[in-house]
Amino acid sequence: MSNYTDPICGMSVSPETAQATAVRNDEVYFFCSKRCKQLFSNQTSENRRQGGKQTDKDLAKKATKKAD
Ligand SMILES: [Zn+2]
Repeated sequence: MSNYTDPICGMSVSPETAQATAVRNDEVYFFCSKRCKQLFSNQTSENRRQGGKQTDKDLAKKATKKAD
């Protein structure tokens, strides 16, 4: 039986006990918790969004500067 490594927290996770799974680039990832999967999904969508567009964080920073 092979264990997988949770890409978010680095924990060793076995498919039987994994709390969540995700597939990216035809690879399956196992997570120790749904929170780790959530973080993983966030990373993925952030990478997809990159391409000249501003992130929500950048916009929030600008809004703060204006308020000053
Ligand atoms: Zn984890």
